[in-house]
Amino acid sequence: MIIPAKLRSIHSKSVMIRRDFLKTLAATSAVFVRGRAYSQEPERYDLLIRNGEVRDPGRGFRKRADLGVLNGTIAAIEEHIPAERGLDIIDASTLYVTPGLIDLHTHCFWGGSGIGIEADPVAARSGVTTWVDAGSFGFDQIDGFRRFAVRPAQARIFGYVYLYPSSRNPDIDPVKYVRGVMQRTGEAAVANRDIILGVKFQVGSNMNGKYSLPFLKIARELCDQFKLPLMAHISFAPPETPEVMELMRPGDVVTHCYNGHTLSIVDANGQIKPGVREARARGVLFDIGHGVGSFNFGAARKAMEAGFLPDTISTDIYSLNVNGPVYDLPTTMSKLLHLGMSFDDVLLRTTASPAKVIDRIRGLGSLSVGAPADIALLAIEEGQFQLVDSQKNTVMATQKIVSRLCICRGKRLVVPL
Ligand SMILES: [Zn+2]
Repeated sequence: MIIPAKLRSIHSKSVMIRRDFLKTLAATSAVFVRGRAYSQEPERYDLLIRNGEVRDPGRGFRKRADLGVLNGTIAAIEEHIPAERGLDIIDASTLYVTPGLIDLHTHCFWGGSGIGIEADPVAARSGVTTWVDAGSFGFDQIDGFRRFAVRPAQARIFGYVYLYPSSRNPDIDPVKYVRGVMQRTGEAAVANRDIILGVKFQVGSNMNGKYSLPFLKIARELCDQFKLPLMAHISFAPPETPEVMELMRPGDVVTHCYNGHTLSIVDANGQIKPGVREARARGVLFDIGHGVGSFNFGAARKAMEAGFLPDTISTDIYSLNVNGPVYDLPTTMSKLLHLGMSFDDVLLRTTASPAKVIDRIRGLGSLSVGAPADIALLAIEEGQFQLVDSQKNTVMATQKIVSRLCICRGKRLVVPL
């Protein structure tokens, strides 16, 4: 009789939880314990999601199937997995089973900036398992971001570090000051590469006034030196769109792409502005970043009619818009659905596409076997739904994407009372 070492060591302990025992069996195709063969013992999953319409747009997978989760990982996707093989069974027969949603532009450093929200409560009700904080903190706050936002959260959290640190001497010229912290910002981003994706900067006369372009040039230099991606917010000119586009490199993200303001990608006549298509052709990505002021139905329609779809769909969710007009990522997705994108196209831009930008976790944004068990159970409700953009323009949509259950790292997220 051969007892695998793993089982032998477990058996040396007199107490064994059945669940762990079954998991061990699951990892061992045919084993013998105390003279008895267990080769026919069915594999048991921690979680078994049955009969759902599985949609994994990153690999073009769309099929009604059952999905087994074991140890926080997707362990099986099969046409039929019997109910007795699940310890916790979810009937998803009326639902879409999708990768956990990824929101590339959020502000979830609660208490660390004036506008931060907590990720988990919103994640639980919206299906967003991965959050990217778009620059709520400078290089001197990364440790706090890690300790108080990233670590305690069940949802996965990443961030872009903001170019401008949290404090400065008012006697020092701002350009000199920002240049003076360039090195430390780059070093901090590299030292925290597991959670920091790149550098964020807000380009717009309403955000950084006359310093927008000089600061953006410093951000460019910094990102080139440290080989970091840049996320650039765009809002109001000056600077003009072509000047900004010229400074964007492959892998960089332009956020607020359907903002409808003067620093935008589409002009009043519906023409895509010079430099924008060239930037996309180079590999620059264009992100929605809805926010309190940055998503306009008219601008979105014009850009889409010109054939310019976003690469990623994100909310720019924070305390001033979480109770409207943003609410959550499924609501922003519903707006793009209403404007004519298909469900799969919207889903691709909230799963596989932002996962590529993050590029930190293998299988993130996918439902393939071996991928992390980050899963959203979504539904498309039919009816009459009023959706509002950042300028309070409204549309009446007939479909609305909603989340019914959010699973992150193989565990259900619970909506707080
Ligand atoms: Zn933002």
